[in-house]
Amino acid sequence: MVNEYLIPARMGLAIAVKQGQTVRIIDVEGEQVADFAVYQRMDHSERLDPSVTMDALHAYVVGQDDVLYSNKYRPMFTITRDLVQCHDLLNSACRAEMYEFLYQKSGHRSCYENLNEAFGQFGVSKPDQHYTLNIFMNTELLPDGQMLVKRPKSKPGDFIDLRAEMDVIVGISACPCEESIVNGYVCTPLRVQVH
Ligand SMILES: [Zn+2]
Repeated sequence: MVNEYLIPARMGLAIAVKQGQTVRIIDVEGEQVADFAVYQRMDHSERLDPSVTMDALHAYVVGQDDVLYSNKYRPMFTITRDLVQCHDLLNSACRAEMYEFLYQKSGHRSCYENLNEAFGQFGVSKPDQHYTLNIFMNTELLPDGQMLVKRPKSKPGDFIDLRAEMDVIVGISACPCEESIVNGYVCTPLRVQVH
């Protein structure tokens, strides 16, 4: 049985996922970033940790067959299929203050608030920040130390499959940033399937 969800543009979703289930995140129209945050089902002090994942993998790039680790160095997810092979571990979720800082816009929707709203139904209390795998986000590090955000490589219908390695609560935000090329300047929906 497949459970399917549509995340409208600029919105978020949280779902409970059991160990062994696979989450497929589909970029419906292309060039849309999905911020992906995870908490252990029974103990919310354990969460997906991009820094630990980079430490464990000795890499800042993840793709097919890579494991995503928790802050307690335990496998949370394995990427079992990846049609895009271009994601970002370096940036935390966008938040209202970011839009004020970078774009002088107040009250902007954000991945931080999308995730807070979605996780609320599962009793996950609001953290200081969400440290996410930014699926389909195209970040390039330059030799001079600059970090460039580029247009996502994902085409309409492209997807990534992630298999849960423990019982978790997953939060996914369709990033609401249309001010930069991060989502190709247009915010679009995501489709999620769990099987
Ligand atoms: Zn965002």
